Amino acid sequence: MEESHILRPLNDAQRKAVTAPPGPILVLAGAGSGKTRALVHRITWLVESMGVRPWSIIAMTFTNKAAKEMRSRVEELLGMPATGLWIGTFHSLGLRMLRLHREEAGLPEEFEVIDTADQLRQVKKTMEVLRIDEKAIPPRQVAWRINSCKDEGHRAHNLPEAVVRDGVFSDIYREYEKRCQQLGLVDFGELLLRTYELLKNNQTVREHYQSKFEHVLIDEFQDTNQIQFLCGHLLSQAHQSIFAVGDDDQSIYGWRGARVENMLGFERIYSGATVFRLEQNYRSSSRILNAANAIIHRNSGRLGKDLWTDGPEGDMIRVYCGSSETDEARFVIGRIESAIEKGESRREHAILYRSNAQSRAFEEQLLSHNIPYAVYGGMRFFERAEIKNAIAYLRLAVNRDSDPSFDRVVNMPPRGIGDRTLDIVRDLAARQGASLWQASRLAIETSALSARASGSLKQFMEMIEEFSSLSNDLNLDDLVDHVIKKSGLLAYHQNERGEAALSRIQNLKELITAAKSYSIGQLEEGFGENGNNLSRFLSHTALEPGERGSESSDDCVQLMSLHSAKGLEFQTVYLCGMEEGLFPHQLSVSEGNLEEERRLCYVGITRAMRNLYLCHARSRYLYGRPAPCVPSRFLSEIPRELVAAEMDIPPPPQQIEVPGIGGSGSVWTDSTGNALELGCTVHHDKFGEGTIIQAEGRGDAARVQIHFSQAGPKWLVCAYARLRRV
Ligand code: ATP
Ligand code: MG
Repeated sequence: MEESHILRPLNDAQRKAVTAPPGPILVLAGAGSGKTRALVHRITWLVESMGVRPWSIIAMTFTNKAAKEMRSRVEELLGMPATGLWIGTFHSLGLRMLRLHREEAGLPEEFEVIDTADQLRQVKKTMEVLRIDEKAIPPRQVAWRINSCKDEGHRAHNLPEAVVRDGVFSDIYREYEKRCQQLGLVDFGELLLRTYELLKNNQTVREHYQSKFEHVLIDEFQDTNQIQFLCGHLLSQAHQSIFAVGDDDQSIYGWRGARVENMLGFERIYSGATVFRLEQNYRSSSRILNAANAIIHRNSGRLGKDLWTDGPEGDMIRVYCGSSETDEARFVIGRIESAIEKGESRREHAILYRSNAQSRAFEEQLLSHNIPYAVYGGMRFFERAEIKNAIAYLRLAVNRDSDPSFDRVVNMPPRGIGDRTLDIVRDLAARQGASLWQASRLAIETSALSARASGSLKQFMEMIEEFSSLSNDLNLDDLVDHVIKKSGLLAYHQNERGEAALSRIQNLKELITAAKSYSIGQLEEGFGENGNNLSRFLSHTALEPGERGSESSDDCVQLMSLHSAKGLEFQTVYLCGMEEGLFPHQLSVSEGNLEEERRLCYVGITRAMRNLYLCHARSRYLYGRPAPCVPSRFLSEIPRELVAAEMDIPPPPQQIEVPGIGGSGSVWTDSTGNALELGCTVHHDKFGEGTIIQAEGRGDAARVQIHFSQAGPKWLVCAYARLRRV
């Protein structure tokens, strides 16, 4: 094969995989070994060297960010837009098929995709209808179980025996299915299952796509769940050309139904499959790679791969122990700030965490330092309350019967439609099996409401009707602009005070920009003229993680959970909250999923190219309460010789500096002269034993926070506390 710009940037093993004759191919390799690069080059090689038409190719991955990057790398290599090429997440590609074959899929005209929060609301409503107490079975658990069933392909009418035996759950599931179908609601699990059922049950549609897609490519194959795997399998049946790349050590979605076995069984399922292995890591310095290897070696049940690099040894790995989560954030942002001052770009700094709630402390520091940043996943732009409100107005304009939307904005901003009025409407809806919209109309017609309430409700409904008719005439962004003004949302936040209000206003304005850029994207994809742009935009908002207040192309610090960092890389990574209970997560430890947490740690470490910081705090607010923290076991699994002996910034004060009860110099002591320090165990006559987790103030005003094992956290003034060190 002639050397070309497509093959030159590849090593031998990659080149072999990229140019292998079409057929079932599995690339099995560790982090940063160039799997995604191989997949991207495979696509371009097919197009350029094999004359495959881009619209005969479908490529799937897991996150929007990864999909975007994949498309742009393909286009860069091809030197032109890859028109007609299907690249996207499983969810977005599924949605695309469902839109194109809505009727065959049995979906109503204006179906809408609902996110996890809306799904939970629907589960709660379903339970209300069935009069099932939330204490009997928590709605969150129900939602989780429904998703698991869908991931495995189980509908309410064909549940496995063991699940059927749990009558309550299967009743709720059946009713939930019915409700969603009636209201045209599609949750994330449904999106995939519907797509699969469409392909499986409709011969015409199946054969169309089987012949259309001559080549199927899947990145992050280790994290496919049963339904995703089956979709890929169905699509590739006619041409048998499937190119799957993955790493069993990076399988981190077991809790969401991912099946590593899909990868392990690849050769069995696709007879004649060729397997390629890549072993050279191009991403990380050797110290970082060694740390990652040391961690993952502790797992059993691995396929086992050896990764090596001929890159530089790199800097030492740095561990920072903060006194609190605020201190941890202060440290990280301080580092980033000085790196930026030295000319490094912001987007090369990634703050990774196990739980999305951790982003808040970092966001606050970033805001106060005026450093632009983007949050991926978690606190999604489109999940922010003010954005959801605006979206709800738009949704109602498309679909009056969208109860979640109606509920959300009928009195937001407040327009005098109180709980009493709404109770009447809800009650009517429940009795008539009608939507809230229909029930409102009925209530107005039958004078079931007070004249004032009836008037406000009518005004609200007329406004929605107006939005609806405008949606045919106005550009998407003009429509959004109109809606946020006319609905009163913008004015509502403008009347609020403070920074939070300001950011809400900014976010609402950002929504106009989002609508604009979505329209442009649609035109480029050749979607511009047909169909209803607004309803497609609405589905997009449920799928798109979005970025906070900035375009992804902007140079901003990157914040994301470890799960959403998969597949990405950054010059500097700050892995934060390395504490027992947080990471590894308490739930995973108690459920015996430590190995998956360790893989997550491996994923996190291998995102780093040059610098890696591992941060933890001695005390942290968890679920609204401060609690002392123990460093993560993963920290101790990293060989000491890879870690810098000392941080080159002063450690946080270990001793609390004020004259204390014992009065000896500047250090607090207890009555017998033992120094009181952060982290030490003390005894209190009333509260028993506890650990000092925070301290503030001086002199007589000095106080400490102690986490008592019986009584929980308490602030005590040192001068009066009568503490005894034990
Ligand atoms: P992950 O498991 O994290 O998804 P991956 O195996 O998909 O990683 P890539 O993201 O494709 O790895 O590549 C990692 C880095 O190495 C990228 O910066 C990529 O550009 C670079 N790279 C890959 N292959 C080569 C190569 N043959 N020569 C030089 N650099 C390479
Ligand atoms: Mg990759």
